[in-house]
Amino acid sequence: MIPPSKCCAPVIAVVGSGPSALYATAELVRVLPAARVNLFDRLPTMGGLARYGVSPDHSDRRRMVAHYESLIMGSGRVSFYGGVHVGNDISPAELKAAHDAVIYACGSSEDQRLGIDGEDLAGSHPATHFVGWYNGHPDHSARSFNLDVERAVVIGNGNVALDVARMLLLDRERLAETDVAGPALDALGKSQVREVVVLGRRGPAESAFTTPELLELLALDEIDVIVENAEGLLALAETPPAIGNAREYALHLKLQLLRELAVRPLRSRNRRLVLSFLNSPLAIVGSGRVEALQIGLNRLVDGVDGRTQAQPTGRSRTLTTGLVLRSVGYRGTAVDGLPFDPARGTLPHRDGRVYCPQTGEVLSGIYVVGWQKRGPSGVMGSNKICAIETVKSLLQDLSVLPTGQHVSEGNGLAALLQRLPVAPVDYRDWKTIDRAEREMGRIQRRPRIRFTTVEAMRSALV
Ligand code: NAP
Repeated sequence: MIPPSKCCAPVIAVVGSGPSALYATAELVRVLPAARVNLFDRLPTMGGLARYGVSPDHSDRRRMVAHYESLIMGSGRVSFYGGVHVGNDISPAELKAAHDAVIYACGSSEDQRLGIDGEDLAGSHPATHFVGWYNGHPDHSARSFNLDVERAVVIGNGNVALDVARMLLLDRERLAETDVAGPALDALGKSQVREVVVLGRRGPAESAFTTPELLELLALDEIDVIVENAEGLLALAETPPAIGNAREYALHLKLQLLRELAVRPLRSRNRRLVLSFLNSPLAIVGSGRVEALQIGLNRLVDGVDGRTQAQPTGRSRTLTTGLVLRSVGYRGTAVDGLPFDPARGTLPHRDGRVYCPQTGEVLSGIYVVGWQKRGPSGVMGSNKICAIETVKSLLQDLSVLPTGQHVSEGNGLAALLQRLPVAPVDYRDWKTIDRAEREMGRIQRRPRIRFTTVEAMRSALV
């Protein structure tokens, strides 16, 4: 065996091309001036959750990711390999053999389960499917949702719950200004949904949505907002925040905004959003499809861990509805050939270094960032801090990693890619797809018309 050459510049693979992948790549490019980075995505598109998870009416949040995309690709040291599914087309071991280090940034694409009766009735869907559908994700674009109902219920009150609630209530004109996928625009434009109830199991102070989303609701003229089961809100919101405590200040601001929404007179709009607190879903009921949701009323108690918890009061009510979206968080899935923590839905890691939970041994040269590392939490910018931590670990390890082995042993990427049934999409191809979408949008006076299948994306390249 030829000894690994330490003089070679490191070649690093990043798996995924969403916000956490782009932040990690930007950091690699910044701290390792000679390194090359190969970015892999199972889809022919770049952007991951920025393209398929961000709400179409939040295009400003996509701009930040677009900025990072230009930054890294402009370095001339990053290559994109779209349509390559690591774990299926290439094994993690093969990928590692072709690189000095690999950073996994695959996110969390599955939904958490509620574990209640009726969860799988027709008309009950994970919010993740609805989000994927309206964003034209090829895995979800063929789905359909029953929008011939007057009331929809969203379980959970995080930012995803508010995203899907807004998307259900915005009128066609407003939606057409966004890059919502064409089939979703048609279906939502004809929707009969006039009320969306967002259910939180705890109180307003424990709600998972964040302040910018409330500000947005206050500014939305065409939707009435009703705040339910929040009796303590008025008294709570008057409590001044502790000086210097950013967390308490943020909570105070959030409660003030909620109070503003709660006391705002209704303007008789024909679409309304109900933010309802202290409600736990007990069962989804219906014969063959969703007809109603049974809800238990909660009170708040201090948990043993110091966290405020919801405790059932024993009282319940039934809400009629034909559409339930379960928005109780995402979870990651296992990648064949890599360790997995099934309880957290993440790769087990220490400071971003992936390790085997059975032996405790760190996997040499394997790292993780983003939701696949810390679970589905935080806003887009949280991924930057997370990526910096992982790249710092990689940098510390680089002096002991056997760099250059992939070249000297002939395990190069080119040989691996030649075995693929379909050629990968490179960055120029992705820009061609992107331009084609924008051009179709220009003709229809929309920001873009999204391709919603892999075949359609690839057909733009011929
Ligand atoms: P999330 O913020 O973790 O919210 C999950 C919600 O589900 C919480 O209200 C939680 O209540 C509830 N829940 C969990 N298990 C439940 C159960 N068994 N029964 C009833 N309710 C249950 O998750 P998310 O909304 O999916 O968002 C994921 C991450 O993406 C978050 O960090 C979010 O901020 C971020 N995100 C940001 C934006 C944005 O910046 N605009 C947009 C979308 C997503 P408890 O609190 O009581 O557990």
